Amino acid sequence: MQKGNIGVTTNDIFPIIKKFLYSDHEIFLRELVSNAVDATQKLKTLSSVGEYKGELGDLKVEVKTDAKAGTLTISDRGIGMTQEEIDKYINRIAFSGAEEFLEKYKNDANAIIGHFGLGFYSAFMVSKKVEIITKSYKDGSKAVKWSCDGSPEYTFDEIDKADRGTDIVLYIDDENKDFLEEGKVKGLLTKYCKFLPVPIVFGKEKEWKDGKEVETDKDNVINNTQPAWTRKPAELKEEDYKSFYKELYPYGDDPLFYIHLNVDYPFNLTGILYFPKIKNNFEIQKNKIQLYCNQVFVTDSVEGIVPEFLTLLHGVIDSPDIPLNVSRSYLQSDSNVKKISNHITKKVADRLQEIFNSQRAELENKWDDLKIFIEYGMLTDEKFSERAEKFVLLKNIDGKFYTLDEYKTLIGENHKDKDGNLVYLYTTNAEEQHQYIQAAKDKGYDVLLMDGQLDVHFISKLEQKSEGKARFTRVDADVIDKLIQKGDNKSVTLTTEQQDALTSVFSSQLPSDGKMNFIVTYENMDANSQPVFITQNEFMRRMKEMSATQGGGMNFYGEMPDSFNLVVNTAHPLIEKILKEEESECGDKVAPFALDITSWEKKRADLKGDKKESDLAEAVKDEIKDLDNKISEAKKQQKSIFEGFAKESKEVGQLVDLALLSNNLLKGEALSRFIKRSMSLL
Ligand code: ADP
Repeated sequence: MQKGNIGVTTNDIFPIIKKFLYSDHEIFLRELVSNAVDATQKLKTLSSVGEYKGELGDLKVEVKTDAKAGTLTISDRGIGMTQEEIDKYINRIAFSGAEEFLEKYKNDANAIIGHFGLGFYSAFMVSKKVEIITKSYKDGSKAVKWSCDGSPEYTFDEIDKADRGTDIVLYIDDENKDFLEEGKVKGLLTKYCKFLPVPIVFGKEKEWKDGKEVETDKDNVINNTQPAWTRKPAELKEEDYKSFYKELYPYGDDPLFYIHLNVDYPFNLTGILYFPKIKNNFEIQKNKIQLYCNQVFVTDSVEGIVPEFLTLLHGVIDSPDIPLNVSRSYLQSDSNVKKISNHITKKVADRLQEIFNSQRAELENKWDDLKIFIEYGMLTDEKFSERAEKFVLLKNIDGKFYTLDEYKTLIGENHKDKDGNLVYLYTTNAEEQHQYIQAAKDKGYDVLLMDGQLDVHFISKLEQKSEGKARFTRVDADVIDKLIQKGDNKSVTLTTEQQDALTSVFSSQLPSDGKMNFIVTYENMDANSQPVFITQNEFMRRMKEMSATQGGGMNFYGEMPDSFNLVVNTAHPLIEKILKEEESECGDKVAPFALDITSWEKKRADLKGDKKESDLAEAVKDEIKDLDNKISEAKKQQKSIFEGFAKESKEVGQLVDLALLSNNLLKGEALSRFIKRSMSLL
């Protein structure tokens, strides 16, 4: 037996390994299995170039647990090591500035392992003792056993070993006994080794026999050694991409489209990305892009490596050129990573363009599901946006699809307002906004369906890009003649007093629960248009919607009540009738109040003059206050007279309710009252 000390400058690396690498203990298995795979691949290479002439045999890596002995063993039939090689590759680890580095990256085992080439030593995260039993492929090599119990001291023993290759035997320590459990090991192997290029065997396959699960004599191979992304696109069919997707995400729906990445210059990158069909938000979080390095699973948090919007995609990226064993912040500033990220964006855009060019019908078919990805990309990535402008689609209410350019041509002059600006009309809910859509269609306008989660933001983006030349307006944002203002509308002929009176009349019948704000406005439309209807200001509505999807920030708008306009069409006979009735019913009653108010207001104005409130004498201030009270009291009286009229009127409440009803705003008790009143009118 021979003894020696592991060459480290820090006193003892094992406590450090144990202490700092607590978060990711499990990756030891990935490291050891990858080493075994590397050794196997090296042997294959040597054999293929004729440097190794012996038999290759059954090249597989085997993982075994022995609960009794408390060991986990990883065996390969790769190149093995001579004693000198162990000395060179295992015993001498150069540490410099170790402590400082470890302190900085103490929560990032990947970074530490990568930095020090500590793959093998990660075994000590879970073991009290580790043995390497190995025999080199080289002719005449002697088998050797290296053993180390977690102190810097190791021993060498000569032993007998029939086969070429290496067994790494871990004596699992007491805190990590779970790594001896079959289920645990199987789970880890599936996570990290699912696509390694050499078969990884863990136990025997099982089958059900006579109601019992029994072992067969067939090796249980964990991995698919030739996953789809490692093969040439030309060799693969649509079906292969679909079944690979199932392999990655057994419970997912078929994806919408795939993108096969295959780059070898200026960096190496392969992979397959999928646009998934998302059923709910939960799935976005669960299934993620997996990052591999030469078929070894590294991570499924790829933020910083692929552009943010592509993190919504599914699939696999494999690149030996992404410096995986470094910290995230370093990754994001790495120029290679940036290049890769840009490249992936470009590839995704190219592929979509290709689908658009050759399979437009298919693209249109899947557009509703795909749209959220494209819009998200366009909103967050300017480069992608520029490319996507050529294939992003707009869908109108008849279910027809148009590119941005096509749509512009379609609506052309017809949708231009009097200032020459293009107005895109849209609906967010074809059912609820049906009557407005119909009105727009009757006018010969086209209406877009914008009911996606990101549409409100997407619309803003398109408006910004147009630099003020285009505007999106929801069909219910204004009266039809003003949606796309072609010329000057007929002005309202009612006097201010008449309007004020009608405003009191109609307001008294509107809901006043604080959740909705109504402003009564007047339009001189034509007798065939509706007498009373509701519109919702585009700007306010959009601000509210945006704050709802963004959260935080714009809460100012989010907390405001919804604001609507109750538009009264003064040209409608019913309104003329109501006005006439109101005047004959209320005219005499409100007149005295009106006289009082006029005289009080005049007096108030005289008192105040052009002085500032603060410059007024106390006595004058009191007098003004007194007048204000009188005025407001008189107005209240007037209001109650109008309200009394409105209550008695057959039409006012009914018209208001009809307008509310057609906007889905009439609910609960108000709705019951409406139904009752309607019955009595029949
Ligand atoms: P890395 O794999 O990053 O080089 P490791 O600490 O994991 O660092 O391994 C150090 C070296 O030990 C390897 O480069 C390889 O030469 C050798 N080695 C490790 N495991 C094996 C094995 N199973 N068979 C042959 N050589 C091995």
